[in-house]
Amino acid sequence: MTVQEIIDLEQEYVLGVYSRPGFVLERGAGCTLYDSEGRAYLDCAAGIAVNALGYDDPGVNQAMQEAASTGMLHVSNLYHSAAHARLAQLLCETSFADKVHFSLTGADANEGAFKFARRYARERGHEDKYEILAFSNAFHGRLFGSLAATPRPKYQDPFKPLMPGVRFAQFNDLESARSQMDERVCAIIVEPVQGEGGIYPATQEFLLGLRSLADEYDALLIFDEVQCGVGRTGALWAYQGYGVEPDILTAAKPLAGGLPIGAILMRQKVADAMHKGDHASTFAGGPFTTHVARHVVSRIAEPAFLAAVEEKGQLLRDLLEELNSPHVLEVRGKGLMVGAELDIETGPLIGKAAERGLLVINAGPNVLRFVPPLIISHDEIKRAVAIIGEILQEL
Ligand SMILES: *Cc1c(COP(=O)(O)O)cnc(C)c1O
Repeated sequence: MTVQEIIDLEQEYVLGVYSRPGFVLERGAGCTLYDSEGRAYLDCAAGIAVNALGYDDPGVNQAMQEAASTGMLHVSNLYHSAAHARLAQLLCETSFADKVHFSLTGADANEGAFKFARRYARERGHEDKYEILAFSNAFHGRLFGSLAATPRPKYQDPFKPLMPGVRFAQFNDLESARSQMDERVCAIIVEPVQGEGGIYPATQEFLLGLRSLADEYDALLIFDEVQCGVGRTGALWAYQGYGVEPDILTAAKPLAGGLPIGAILMRQKVADAMHKGDHASTFAGGPFTTHVARHVVSRIAEPAFLAAVEEKGQLLRDLLEELNSPHVLEVRGKGLMVGAELDIETGPLIGKAAERGLLVINAGPNVLRFVPPLIISHDEIKRAVAIIGEILQEL
């Protein structure tokens, strides 16, 4: 099929909620994707911060083969499997958590976390303690509960009514958070580094303040690390770079290197509030995805791997600064989660970058987002920034 035939076919049969560029991806290797006409693209999008080990990684391929060789792609949560138990063990041993529950996406991990927080409050006899405190610019997902905690009118308005009981405070503003807090709040949810909202790292003071606020009101502190978790910031978990522990942490995007999986990590006191039959999912935690995820997490958890992420992130931020472009207002982020705020819309720039063989994405209308595979090399980082520099200069 030609490129145009594939695009026409898609437009005829696929719901049009995405606008996609005019090429068709065919294969990937390392940090490079190739389209059907053989053009190469250096990928700084990584499937939206998902493909942490890039494409065609030998270790991931081997883990998939091992998992496939059992013939057991799925068994449901009605039965035991070793892969499921061993991934949960690894996630607990590398974090604050005592227990893990798996989900399929970031949004359903967050909604599971909301349910656990309500259950925890009820278990302690607080019938009216069910509200959620979230923050400006947050992104927690597109289901009715997670969307209710994602304060963007464009995403919310066409689908109202959403889950009731969500209130908002200003991100990185402790006074604002305090003014929204009362006995009815069962959980505070925050991204330690906001992703979709424009790559805004929380301050340590803010997260520490939220920790005390949650404790003061016996509410749970939920860190949404769906985007910033699993090595992205140079720490395995973003909270570890802040020295502030949550009660619940949600993860998803990169957890199985590209396969769909989410996880809710929690303290024992949260686990104690959940009882048999309280929550469930048909597909979550299956032996295939959990076996692959264990390989991915154990690779990324290596101290040398994480140190390289930190160092390469610094290089990326430094090179973007050194462009000295009048269009770049601010460069921010942590590790390989980097945003460049521009004084122009990112759309045309992203299109031009693709024409020159670079895939980048936006985070809001004016922020160029770099979330490359964590295995990206120094040379690839230099090449990516050089392409952006050329385009900015021509504007
Ligand atoms: C992407 C994202 C989600 C939603 O994850 P899905 O897998 O798309 O449901 C939630 N929270 C954050 C911080 C995200 O970046």
